[in-house]
Amino acid sequence: MLEQLRAASLAEAWLFFLAANGGIFAGSVVLCWGLGSWFPRKRLFDRWEALRPIEVIAALISVILNAGVSVGGWLLWTEDVITIGPTSLWRSAFDGLVMLLAMDFGMYVFHRLAHRPSLYRLFHGFHHRHEATNPISLFVLHPVEVVGFGALMILFLMVYPMTLGGLIGYLTLNVLFGTIGHSGVEPFPPSLRCIPVAGLVGTSTFHAEHHEHPDYNFGFYTLFWDLIFGTLDPEYDKRFKQEPHQE
Ligand SMILES: [Zn+2]
Ligand SMILES: [Zn+2]
Repeated sequence: MLEQLRAASLAEAWLFFLAANGGIFAGSVVLCWGLGSWFPRKRLFDRWEALRPIEVIAALISVILNAGVSVGGWLLWTEDVITIGPTSLWRSAFDGLVMLLAMDFGMYVFHRLAHRPSLYRLFHGFHHRHEATNPISLFVLHPVEVVGFGALMILFLMVYPMTLGGLIGYLTLNVLFGTIGHSGVEPFPPSLRCIPVAGLVGTSTFHAEHHEHPDYNFGFYTLFWDLIFGTLDPEYDKRFKQEPHQE
């Protein structure tokens, strides 16, 4: 697969990454809806956010921009600025974890910056139009934010020699976390908080609280940086362990 992708033309790369990102978007929307119906007794909001045309357009633009970022990464890979090689399962698992933790820190920093009043008004406030969430919330982003997230990923890949398995693993987890975080239901059991390390996983409640109270919970994959910098919602534990909305 890697050799075929390396030998592809620019047009073929665009087609491939448009199809891949379109598939990711469709998969995320279906999973989000699925989570809503699989966990009807664990709803965090009593409604979905309304589906507005401007936000559907923004979500589709996000998909195209994500494909553009992928093509940019592909170009840098074909020029050997980015290294992606095949390797063992253990090395892939290690690389995926390193990328997840590095991106978690980078995203925390940029998310806090994005909440500075001027940047919030210009860019990030668009995502926060959703106080509750709906299955496209993950993609309702200002184009600058989509490119910024892509640039952060590419920057990481330029300094860290990555494995294909590690990259696919990270990208899969990224979409899963984003989808669960905007699903409006809490699929994780309350006992999760009592398990060492696992209790630090960024849950759906964690990101739902950020949409309700934007001064807290800036992390994405973990609670770690919010705990370190004192931005974890003081109500988090109570909210995560309480009985959610019943249908
Ligand atoms: Zn969000
Ligand atoms: Zn935010």
